[in-house]
Amino acid sequence: MPTHLRMSPRNLVSLRNLLVLLMAALFGIGVSSASARKSAAHSHTRLRAIAHAFVNATLPGEGLLPIDEDDHPTEGQKYEVKLAHPHTDEVIDVVYRIGDVYIPEAIDKLSDFLRDSHNQEVSRFDPRTFDVLHTVLAKLGRPDGIVDILSGYRSEETNDMLRESRTTNAAKYSQHIQGRAIDIRVPGVPATLVRDAALSLGAGGVGYYPQSQFVHVDVGPVRQWTFARHASRRHLRRSRRA
Ligand SMILES: [Zn+2]
Repeated sequence: MPTHLRMSPRNLVSLRNLLVLLMAALFGIGVSSASARKSAAHSHTRLRAIAHAFVNATLPGEGLLPIDEDDHPTEGQKYEVKLAHPHTDEVIDVVYRIGDVYIPEAIDKLSDFLRDSHNQEVSRFDPRTFDVLHTVLAKLGRPDGIVDILSGYRSEETNDMLRESRTTNAAKYSQHIQGRAIDIRVPGVPATLVRDAALSLGAGGVGYYPQSQFVHVDVGPVRQWTFARHASRRHLRRSRRA
């Protein structure tokens, strides 16, 4: 077999995981008893083909959650993120992925950290969001940098409240409600540079908020906008997508 086609044991594990998930997707069967908690990640796996169409080659390949949560790989590239809540000084520093496998406990910890700050509701985050953060920092030349979180998960209740307050352009079906959007600042880096780094990935939505100097990133459909409170009507219409 030519070298480039030879499968390493790691690749075979990934291939096996993918086949099992593919079968589950095709026949609608549960993958494991813990599938409820993992269902979001599994449904994303079904979207791999679509995702690959927009994920730039500079993003690491999509990872998978291990089927057996205790069966973590110990070898492979480690992906780490450091997040901070600027108003509470709460910080989390965690390896969330090794090689092509997302670490469920790490995703749980990050999801808890990104809980709705108004009612403390927690929802499991789409792990690809952390790949976006990881890659944006690498592009900015700050692979060990901290990301300040302004907003993570939003319950529908909180999102409705924000929509009514009209202080932001929260969309009715915000990606924040889906647990796959984060509003960020990278301390010491102008928001325009963070925006440009995120845009260069072509990996989802990127919103730029010049007045508040933060950037919205998500792993929903690829799109971009700028939100300025006193922008023209046309500009605002384009921006009602966060
Ligand atoms: Zn946002």
